[in-house]
Amino acid sequence: MIPVMIPQLGEEEAQAAAEAVRSGWVAQGPRVARFEQEFATTVGASHGVAVSSCTTALHLALVVLDIKPGDEVVVPSLSFIATANAVRYVGATPVFADVDLATGNLTVETVDAVRTARTRAVIAVHQGGVPFDTAALRKAADGWGVALVEDAACAAGATAYGQPAGTGAALAAWSFHPRKLITTGEGGMVTLDDADRAVRLRRLREHGMNVSAADRHASAQPVLEAYLETAYNYRMTDIQAAVGLVQLGRLPGLVADRRAKAARYQELLADIDGLVPVRDPAYGQTNYQSFWVLINPSYGTSRDDVLAELARRGVSARRGIMAAHLEPAYEGVEHAPLPVTERITRDSLILPLHHALTTDDQDHIVGVLRDLARP
Ligand SMILES: *Cc1c(COP(=O)(O)O)cnc(C)c1O
Repeated sequence: MIPVMIPQLGEEEAQAAAEAVRSGWVAQGPRVARFEQEFATTVGASHGVAVSSCTTALHLALVVLDIKPGDEVVVPSLSFIATANAVRYVGATPVFADVDLATGNLTVETVDAVRTARTRAVIAVHQGGVPFDTAALRKAADGWGVALVEDAACAAGATAYGQPAGTGAALAAWSFHPRKLITTGEGGMVTLDDADRAVRLRRLREHGMNVSAADRHASAQPVLEAYLETAYNYRMTDIQAAVGLVQLGRLPGLVADRRAKAARYQELLADIDGLVPVRDPAYGQTNYQSFWVLINPSYGTSRDDVLAELARRGVSARRGIMAAHLEPAYEGVEHAPLPVTERITRDSLILPLHHALTTDDQDHIVGVLRDLARP
């Protein structure tokens, strides 16, 4: 089978993890601090707060904004379900907005259409690595007096307006799950420019302690910690951060490789009627975390039949991005019409794209898609 995704992990990662183990300090410590600094620098943010996943990063972003029961948070339904779930973790109400057909992302118009007096925040996703229009949405959110949280789970290495996708974000949440470009096994981070919020986020991930366990350990004097608020254990380990530091060095190469392979897919698919591959938006560049293709009716074969035939011929593709409002967990939730979301989730699929994908693999995959096209 040609897998849809494989993380690029080498001997360097194995050695870095082994060094962390041999050092005797395996919980959150100096390697996490270094990974936070280097990752924040990479995405153009002043602070990075490493956590256990992007899901917990999103949760803490909403906690630090004091989002509470009775508040509404606008989210795309077209996203991995964690985006909407994070809103429920703080007892607030996720309100689904539709997305743009070309990018799969929220726009000023789709958010404005579902905004109410209770809207306290928006979580906008850089879906599959395609940046949303950061300039437009950040400006609109400011004008509405609503906080903007950026779900950048897939966006490491993507750019908008010539800068990394996270640069200038009030709060951006990242994932280091193996399905994303760089991985720590599980892991996440919040990046931001606000120093006070960064202090609170560090506390929130570590039981509300006013001094981290690592700092307490490093101190020559006994340090008596205080627990300032009810918080969480969302820490990343130093073993994970050691892997993350090596992975971060691979990021530019991974993005360049994916963009070259995506361009080759686009070229090969260009003459097949009814297949619309994802592309860069006018204002930025995707990292092609997910190479998704929209199937128009003129293609003549349904998405599910395409997936079945690809599987039969040794290709592990995936359905397109899910829609939370169609899942049992969100059954019965009232929402505005979401026609574009439903179209994309029904009619799109994700093709294999990773460092080990060969030109022969690509030719085979496109050959299957060509065979299924209406003659
Ligand atoms: C993967 C993903 C998440 C969840 O990330 P984890 O690190 O697995 O918690 C959240 N949002 C989006 C858009 C994702 O793609």
